[in-house]
Amino acid sequence: MRLASRMDRIGTETAFEAAARARALEATGVDVVHLEIGEPDFDTPANIRAAAKRALDEGKTHYAPFAGIPELRAAIAADASVRKGLAVSPDQVFVTVGGKGVMLYAIEALVEPGDEVLVPDPGYPIYESLVRFMGGVPVPVPLRQANGFRLDLAELRTLITPRTRMLVLNSPANPSGGVLTRSDLEQIAALAIAHDLVVLADEIYGRILYEGEHVSIAALPGMAERTVILDGFSKTYAMTGWRLGYAIVPEWLAFAFGRLLINSVSCVATFEQWGAVEALTGPQDAVDAMVAEFRARRDLIVDGLNAIPGIRCLRPAGAFYVFPEISGTGLSGADFANRLLAEAGVSALAGTAFGGVSVDHIRLSYANSQANIRKALERIATFVGRVAVPA
Ligand code: PLP
Repeated sequence: MRLASRMDRIGTETAFEAAARARALEATGVDVVHLEIGEPDFDTPANIRAAAKRALDEGKTHYAPFAGIPELRAAIAADASVRKGLAVSPDQVFVTVGGKGVMLYAIEALVEPGDEVLVPDPGYPIYESLVRFMGGVPVPVPLRQANGFRLDLAELRTLITPRTRMLVLNSPANPSGGVLTRSDLEQIAALAIAHDLVVLADEIYGRILYEGEHVSIAALPGMAERTVILDGFSKTYAMTGWRLGYAIVPEWLAFAFGRLLINSVSCVATFEQWGAVEALTGPQDAVDAMVAEFRARRDLIVDGLNAIPGIRCLRPAGAFYVFPEISGTGLSGADFANRLLAEAGVSALAGTAFGGVSVDHIRLSYANSQANIRKALERIATFVGRVAVPA
């Protein structure tokens, strides 16, 4: 028996594999602090759960319209119009299985074999995987610590060719927590327009922001018609297991998104969509409280890491990850992460799980309790004290 040849080109998300490895170690009795998982440790707020339960009891258990229930499409359009600063009509909104669904449909709908797609490096590994899967060519755009993990615009210019079709942006970013400024986005928008690129703007961490403003590139002049916005409920509302995301697309892409939804999932779970309506239209204090707690954890982990010789960590403005450089310990990111789990019981990801650029980095998620973060910091300090090669 044989697989289709395109299966040779599909990648993966090593966070899930790292989590499985950490759990296997745990099953042998070892205490592990999990800093590999990119999901809020909070429960979904009670009002959202109650709305979904109510919908179940009211019999909202049938197929929904493929693009989403009208109430949710309207709530998303209204929310996006306010928070992202562009006029969004409900017809442009497609409810998807996770934010990941948006990635799949955007890349399926737009990338032809041989098309080049600019992807952030370090960046979420599924962009690259899906581009390759469709026969496209991912072109890494390096994001460097020295530049606050923002795009280097001069470098970006040199990477655009006549084959470039799409540019993927992710701000606030996984894995670095970096945030693009309004000025960055204005210059990127000018390039996208000049070279007729489509932008896939992954804004899934848009509300997990500690400093500055969240700017959607789609709100800049000339960009709404060439931007696919990816957003969702997983991170903002601690709803990772619900698998609920959404796309906001220009009118010319609506047909394609509809067809791809019908061909893949038919629609997203109907009663869950009622929970999502409550998420957007109900009180937002749970989101504010979660972001305030993430901020305290960010400061705890950044200060703790910077107190360890050989580790340098920026203070990210968004998301819930830190991406420290650990080359001062004499180890590569991959060796550091492997040994940290085996020898100190802290599960982290190598920077190279996010592309080829960040060999000297690891990613730690601080979506974990302050007590566990403290425990992890103590273990990292002891581990580094033991293994570090003095410079
Ligand atoms: N985009 C980025 C940058 C992410 O980090 C993630 C999840 O980790 C997603 C999209 C996918 O989100 P969802 O769980 O809603 O599919």
